[in-house]
Amino acid sequence: MTKTFGGVTALDKVDFSVAPGRIAGLIGPNGAGKSTFFNVLTGVLPGNGGEIRFDGKRLNGLQPHARVRLGMVRTFQKIHPFHGMTVLESVMVGCHTRGGAGMLSAMLRLPAVKAEERRFREAAEAALAFVGLGRQAQAPADALPLGHQRLLQIACGLVTDPRVMLLDEPASGLDANETARLADLLIAIRAQGKTLVLVEHDMSLVMKICDQITVLSFGRRLANGSPDEVRRNPKVIEAYLGS
Ligand code: ADP
Ligand code: MG
Repeated sequence: MTKTFGGVTALDKVDFSVAPGRIAGLIGPNGAGKSTFFNVLTGVLPGNGGEIRFDGKRLNGLQPHARVRLGMVRTFQKIHPFHGMTVLESVMVGCHTRGGAGMLSAMLRLPAVKAEERRFREAAEAALAFVGLGRQAQAPADALPLGHQRLLQIACGLVTDPRVMLLDEPASGLDANETARLADLLIAIRAQGKTLVLVEHDMSLVMKICDQITVLSFGRRLANGSPDEVRRNPKVIEAYLGS
């Protein structure tokens, strides 16, 4: 994958792949191209070259929502809670990306919509219970502490029943206990057969839960391999310590 911004090459022929049911880590210094990689992968930004394949299908040119429908969801580094909604309602909004009934029938409250809404509610409650926010379902979403906001983001992604989740710094701002619980949660998601791609600065979290790690530096792939291989790679040590 290649992405340029004017004269800046943010991603220079970056090769990346992850097998189903694995956790891949994507690391690198600030400005390395990690967020740009997610933006091109999810269709938020067009790429300038290369091919994106997901389960044998070519994704290039597909709109972001079409990629979500195929099973690729992401969370953002910055949190944007839904103001005026409860935690449960916030997760139910996510259901609509996969639901059948449109906005109009939702407003008319047709019987089919009521049944669908019941399904959405049950799916949202299940997702909240899974991430450990079952008791916060009726709380205002924007009043949650940061650690719970991060879990809410994950629940919003999970409710669409994705096959791949792209997580942008899910541990940022979390304390050691919250990070440990996040690690358990991500491992539980992997155990369901889902694939995770993790952009994360917390190296001990990355080393602990990732099956493979890709290191970016100045838009290029510097290294790729198991946590042990990456940890011992002299180029990686230099990129992190020599800068
Ligand atoms: P990371 O997430 O690894 O910190 P980014 O992907 O945000 O890095 O940025 C990679 C490079 O691309 C940086 O040089 C950044 O300034 C540039 N960049 C990212 N997004 C844009 C944009 N929308 N317009 C112009 N330059 C951008
Ligand atoms: Mg970034």
